[in-house]
Amino acid sequence: MATFEEIADRVWVARHEWFDVNVGLIAGSAGLVLVDTNASASIAREVLAEVRRISHAPLLAAVNTHVHFDHTLGNGVFAEAGAELVAHEAAAAALVEHVAAIRVQAAAETDPRFTDLVATDPVVPELTFSSAKALDLGDRVIELIHPGRGHTAGDLVVRIPSADGSAAALFAGDLVEESAQRSAVPGLGSDSYPMDWPASLDLVITLITGGTAVVPGHGSVIDLDFVQEQRSALGVVAETIRDLAGRGVPLDQALEAADWPYPREELADAVRRGYEQLPSARRQLPLI
Ligand SMILES: [Zn+2]
Repeated sequence: MATFEEIADRVWVARHEWFDVNVGLIAGSAGLVLVDTNASASIAREVLAEVRRISHAPLLAAVNTHVHFDHTLGNGVFAEAGAELVAHEAAAAALVEHVAAIRVQAAAETDPRFTDLVATDPVVPELTFSSAKALDLGDRVIELIHPGRGHTAGDLVVRIPSADGSAAALFAGDLVEESAQRSAVPGLGSDSYPMDWPASLDLVITLITGGTAVVPGHGSVIDLDFVQEQRSALGVVAETIRDLAGRGVPLDQALEAADWPYPREELADAVRRGYEQLPSARRQLPLI
């Protein structure tokens, strides 16, 4: 079981082996806020036990950084423990359908943890927002910010200010990924927005400083430099898609027709999504 480690004043992270996913915990004088609830009810109960080793204060809220099951399927356990579930409105709207699709894929897995995953019902957050939301923890206020679309339509980051107002820590969800299990490739999946993602990370970068502890959705704690590098690589992906589409390269030839900052096998969805998301004028073949 992953234990919580303090990365800033009363801010903890537990990095879990399954999916290499991070769960965050923030304490204030009024209680606790959890960031992401892990991938099944049984794992969430272990997370809750670890939370109670840190503090017996009330659980005020459990925040989902985005819709994906490895960040949301523990919701029911934390709702039962008294936490209000919080997410971006697009993440809440997509949760039931996402979990239904994941159950179909998970049924083919042999790892017994997937049995727990399939048996866990999604619990949809009721407290949602579109742009930004503050959560009052008593002697500190934390900020939930939707910087734009990227890994999904409903990503949020959690910014925890220090006494001087700069960000002591920031939970980035899967807008940033460090995990070596995936060679630090951000998840450009079938529900991603590769053309929007660079600008969303530009906004995230304005929220942090060189001293901010940045927690990716998966992998070890990183810093501003890492976020800037990932933003650059995602910018190359988006510009390459824009260039290929602008030159009229057919979608089924696009992956092979360019050099990419990430392995091609990680980019099939990204290219398809990018072609779909470009304005139709940019997708037409040249007239001559
Ligand atoms: Zn994700």
